[in-house]
Amino acid sequence: AAAPRYPRRNPNIIVTGTPGTGKTTHCEALAARIQEAQADADADSPLREMRHIAVNDVVRDQTCHDGFDDALQSWIVDEDKLLDALEGDMTSTQGGCIVDWHACDLFPESWVDLVVVLTADTESLYDRLKERNYPEAKLQENMDAEIMQVLLQEAQEGFAEEVVVPLGSNTPDDMESNVDRIVSWITQWRKDHAD
Ligand code: ADP
Ligand code: MN
Repeated sequence: AAAPRYPRRNPNIIVTGTPGTGKTTHCEALAARIQEAQADADADSPLREMRHIAVNDVVRDQTCHDGFDDALQSWIVDEDKLLDALEGDMTSTQGGCIVDWHACDLFPESWVDLVVVLTADTESLYDRLKERNYPEAKLQENMDAEIMQVLLQEAQEGFAEEVVVPLGSNTPDDMESNVDRIVSWITQWRKDHAD
């Protein structure tokens, strides 16, 4: 029998990293590029079927949590509920989900084509988290996680080597080149998986 066709037309991408490394900023820049591609009716852009899924909003709007932790100022996430909420989009034949989340080990390997791990220098990250008025315990926890490269390790343990791409996110120039790189990667993926 012929090998099964790849289950999706567009790659699913996790954008992960310690809080403050720039996940949302990168994903919103990608979402803006997607909107441009969709607005241009004639263009055969590889971005047209991509979509940004802001997981924070899914957690809040679909109640994938057991309440709010006041000390840590964050939702107590119910990962099973969250996966249930994301399963329809992420296992669809359209695919094309760009998922913005501060963890990646919950996602089944088969749902994911690329894991972008954003990283930031400690000074940049400290300033960004300070600006968010994080409680001291949460600030320290996140600084430690970045220094120990917890997210990169999590990605490398959960996914094949070629799927995991660390990208530095210290300056606006970094962000621009990272977004360009992700767009190029999507373009290439679609070529590689064309019928
Ligand atoms: P995350 O979603 O990972 O928690 P955000 O995207 O909300 O991070 O970014 C946190 C803050 O850092 C924002 O104020 C954002 O503008 C800034 N920031 C993120 N990435 C960069 C970057 N590459 N260069 C400069 N500022 C950045
Ligand atoms: Mn965010």
